[in-house]
Amino acid sequence: MASRPVVAQVEPGYLRKLLPCTIPEDGENFQEIVDDYQKFIIPGLTNWQHPSFFGYFPVACTWEGIIGDIYAGSLFNPGFNWICSPACTELEVIVMDWAAKMFGLSENFQHSGCGGGVLQATASDSLLVAMVAARVRYVEEFPQINPSNFVIYVSSETHSLGLKNGRILGIEVRILNVEITDDFALRGNTVRKAIQEDLANGKIPFFLVATVGTTSTGAVDRIDELGAIAREYFIWLHIDAAWAGVALACPEFRNLCQLDAINDFADSFCTNFHKWGLVNWDASTLWVRNKKHVTNALDVTPAYLRPIARENVMIEMRNWKIGLGSHFRALKVWFVFRSYGVKGFQAHIRDDVALNVLFASKIMLSPILSLVSPPSLALSVFRIALPLPNLRLDQLNKLNKCWYRRLASRADIFVTHTEVGGIYCVRFAIGGQQTQAQHVLRAFEIIEQEAFAAVAGGL
Ligand code: PLP
Repeated sequence: MASRPVVAQVEPGYLRKLLPCTIPEDGENFQEIVDDYQKFIIPGLTNWQHPSFFGYFPVACTWEGIIGDIYAGSLFNPGFNWICSPACTELEVIVMDWAAKMFGLSENFQHSGCGGGVLQATASDSLLVAMVAARVRYVEEFPQINPSNFVIYVSSETHSLGLKNGRILGIEVRILNVEITDDFALRGNTVRKAIQEDLANGKIPFFLVATVGTTSTGAVDRIDELGAIAREYFIWLHIDAAWAGVALACPEFRNLCQLDAINDFADSFCTNFHKWGLVNWDASTLWVRNKKHVTNALDVTPAYLRPIARENVMIEMRNWKIGLGSHFRALKVWFVFRSYGVKGFQAHIRDDVALNVLFASKIMLSPILSLVSPPSLALSVFRIALPLPNLRLDQLNKLNKCWYRRLASRADIFVTHTEVGGIYCVRFAIGGQQTQAQHVLRAFEIIEQEAFAAVAGGL
């Protein structure tokens, strides 16, 4: 794995030049197909399991999860109704309750209570399901309102899934600005002001996406402030903790992730096992406080899907998901949970946070680099910051872009960039299963050397 480049070294359109334009008329020998996979496909893959992959949010993949996925693929059980394969539904319910307990989510979110959790493909799907459920809840509560006046709130740091899902549902999305002085967290006053303005203009705020661990900087919105306001105005509060949520497995990170406020106020909560959570793609979670709202929105049962005389015994997965059938994801999650146990899961998170402390300490000591926001769990965000009195932000951004271009052209490490509050910066996210201190220290050396080289190149 580490012997291949981190980033695919191919040009756009490379594959079209290598493969025929049509399906072969006659079936081909399977060995040749596998050989071509090695020859043509592997070189075009960016190596997400490389120990020096620090871009986006790394995927902490494990062989146990891969085996679980292979088994699930070989079973092909869409599991939309309990009877389609009782084990699919029942294992999913069990692993989601196990996970809720490991994360400290209250009993409200477990299947034994009013709520419960299921596995979705992505955090975007989880949000879409929550939005549809919230819309139905609102209309049921206030049948006289006009749903075309609905407005969804996200922050300027919310992942693009907020805007995208608003677009899918045809609902206006209002972006609320966050400040560098609040470490890019969305605050209650900002939301309250927006609600008052929108209500005065005849709009109906009904959904708020709060993030625990934003993509750019790992910021955590003030769930305590937002939750109270959301409840006051009957707004559904969804917590998108796609990346950072798995850190709830460690009690010492629960305050940072605002677990108490999540338990008090969230209507739905999502985190992805397929990012930092040791399970390979795809395994996103969605927990809801009240399952009735989800099933009221998504239960469409023609005669051919109707279960016989078993109502209210088990949930039917098709009433919690956009698709009818879904992949048997619970199997790989179960394999990973059993292989690692809570202690192993916690150790994985703690090790990566410790590596980020090491990395951030190097940045803080660097004469040329400076953190843009406080390190968040396993993520650091930084830029070149020169102590020149008359340097304008646009000049500094230009220099930082030039530095990032140098980093992006390398095959031996992978980091990604972002922009927050007009500041261009570089992100360093730790999470790969094979990443160790030596890889982090080497990456820091490269990053600092390239920064010196960019500065030497001039503004
Ligand atoms: N939310 C946050 C905070 C993210 O960082 C990301 C991806 O990086 C997502 C959502 C999107 O996740 P998915 O690809 O599972 O939809």
